[in-house]
Amino acid sequence: MSIRDNIELVNENIAKAAERSGRSASDITLVAVTKTVDIARINEAISCGVKALGENKPQEMAEKFPFVQNASWHMIGHLQRNKVRHIIDKADLIHSVDSEKLAAEIDKRAKAINKVQDILIQINISGEATKFGISPTYLETMIENIQSLQNIRVCGLMTIAPLGATETQARNLFENCNKLLIDIRSKKYHNICMEILSMGMSNDYRLAIECGSNLVRIGTGIFGKRNY
Ligand SMILES: *Cc1c(COP(=O)(O)O)cnc(C)c1O
Repeated sequence: MSIRDNIELVNENIAKAAERSGRSASDITLVAVTKTVDIARINEAISCGVKALGENKPQEMAEKFPFVQNASWHMIGHLQRNKVRHIIDKADLIHSVDSEKLAAEIDKRAKAINKVQDILIQINISGEATKFGISPTYLETMIENIQSLQNIRVCGLMTIAPLGATETQARNLFENCNKLLIDIRSKKYHNICMEILSMGMSNDYRLAIECGSNLVRIGTGIFGKRNY
C-alpha cells in the first residue's frame, strides 16, 4: 500500500476508535513517526495531510528539520540532557521528559531562546525495567518539583505499552494512564495543563484511543516496516 493509502486507513481507524470513545476524529492528533524515513517520503506524507512528525533521535530531527516545511516536530524518544540544545529550537512538543534534571535543562535552554517549551511527562506505567519513564507514583512529586520552571509547560503524559502485552494488559495500562492524567488535571498545579495523552503506536492505537488517548504516534502503519 502507498503512503497515501496507509494514511487514509489510519485516519479511518482513528475516526472509528474516536467514535467508540464518544469523540470525533478532530479530537485526536496523528503524529507520523519518521525515524529512518527519508525526506522525500516525509514530504509525501505531508502532502497527504500529515501535520506532525515524530523523531526519536535529536540528531536525526536536527538533520531533517531544514528540509521539511509545513509540519510540527515532536521529540518522542529518550532525550539525554546534552542533546536538548539540538532540538530546543525545533521541537513543538517533547514527549519524553522523565526526570527533573531533564526538565530543568529544557527550561534553561528554552529560556535562552525566549521560548516556552511544551512537554509531556513520560510514564512507565507497566513498571518494566527496560523502558524509560517515571513511575506513576512519582508523578506528583515530579510535578511539584518542576512547576516553578517558567520556560516549560507540562501539557500532559506519554506512555508506551510494553512489547508483547496482551490486549487486556494494554487496556489496563492505557486506562490507568488516562486516570492519572484526569487526576492530576483536577489538582490544578501551576504551569500544568494536562490536556494531551500521548499513547498508541501502529499496533495499539485503536485500543489507546478507546482508552482516552488523544495523540497517537504511528510509524510502521504509515511508512511500512523499518529496516532495523
Ligand atoms: C518508533 C516509535 C513509535 C512508532 O512505532 P510504530 O510501531 O512504527 O508505529 C511510537 N512511539 C515511539 C516513542 C517510538 O519510538
